[in-house]
Amino acid sequence: MSDFNSELETRLVRYAAIDSQSDADSPSAPSTAIQHALLDLLKSELEEIGAQDVVKTDYGTVIATIPGTVPGPTVGFLAHVDTAPQFNATGVKPRVIKGYNGGAITFPDDPELTLTPEEFPYLAEKLGHDIVTASGLTLLGADDKAGVAIIMTAARHLLQNPDIPRPTMRVAFTPDEEIGRGVDARLPADLGADFAYTFDGGAVGEIEYESFSADGAVVMVKGVSIHPGLAKDKLVNAAHLASKIVMTLPHVTLTPETTDDRDGFIHLTDMNGGSSEMRLKFILRDFELDGLEAKGALLRQVCDAVAATEPRAEITCTITSQYRNMRYWLETDMTPVDLARNAARELGVEPVSVPIRGGTDGSRLTEMGVPCPNLFTGMQNIHGPLEWVSVQDMALATDLCLSILRRAGG
Ligand SMILES: [Zn+2]
Repeated sequence: MSDFNSELETRLVRYAAIDSQSDADSPSAPSTAIQHALLDLLKSELEEIGAQDVVKTDYGTVIATIPGTVPGPTVGFLAHVDTAPQFNATGVKPRVIKGYNGGAITFPDDPELTLTPEEFPYLAEKLGHDIVTASGLTLLGADDKAGVAIIMTAARHLLQNPDIPRPTMRVAFTPDEEIGRGVDARLPADLGADFAYTFDGGAVGEIEYESFSADGAVVMVKGVSIHPGLAKDKLVNAAHLASKIVMTLPHVTLTPETTDDRDGFIHLTDMNGGSSEMRLKFILRDFELDGLEAKGALLRQVCDAVAATEPRAEITCTITSQYRNMRYWLETDMTPVDLARNAARELGVEPVSVPIRGGTDGSRLTEMGVPCPNLFTGMQNIHGPLEWVSVQDMALATDLCLSILRRAGG
């Protein structure tokens, strides 16, 4: 095993300090201009370490080749540069706690905040590790800059050691993963990998090949608008009807806050408008397509039932596909999953495959023909101020990347 700790730490701290939050409400690609700063930095760093074919595509993905020395499949590795819109990600001040002593971790910019091994037992396993956190006011963005640092470190190591046998490695850093727009239609062809991996997972050992299947739904409610002073028997209040839809949907089951493991949900994410017109946005999630379809059918049924109580209103429900469970494709050829599992075992890490209650860039890539499981980085408590990652966990992930490539080369 190689000692990558100081390189990983420096890279993560450097990347995390660059703001790169994405924005679901922006129509541009990348969704925010600030993501270019990190993309451009990675492009020049790849050039500096001697990577080939380094490009930033016009859809904002940085792609490069680490040339192979033996025949074998072309293996892609991906990580995303954007940070989550769900929490403050502006002015991230990463800091490193060297040789964690097992106690509570406090934060310089928010004295109320503590990270304890009692509340987060995974932290208790990291005695003596170097722990990276933010300062208390922002998320850290180890999701997914830990993945970026891991791939960059592995690429640098291979380029500096041309004697290490490996097939061709392709690297891609994508924007906008957090808002579900990380995989452009052109990426599979531009990446040119036989299969790929995202480094976007959590605890050491996680090798994930199953994600949610996901649809989005928009419900439009049009009422009848008229001056309230003249409204008797004429006004139809869209806000009342929208509330009825929300209250008729299940609350003690089928919501994100009442489900876990393999259960899917219907989640109301937005509710906007007024008495004349309302727009409701939902996300529908399930691991199985029939379960997903049933959730869409239930939502339509509720809309129809509410519409039947007020024929003068107009209620429409539009459901669109977002991504599909990558298991449907990977279970027909488990080669990339088995390769990663065996590589992990070689490092003394027992692989764990838990279904992801979400999607990754790999969900879309797999559906588009590039099988793409998700690998651990060590990141914890993502999308919030208690986010942290162990540098030693990232080093294990870097070794996993190198071990996968060595095994892919035969
Ligand atoms: Zn991520």
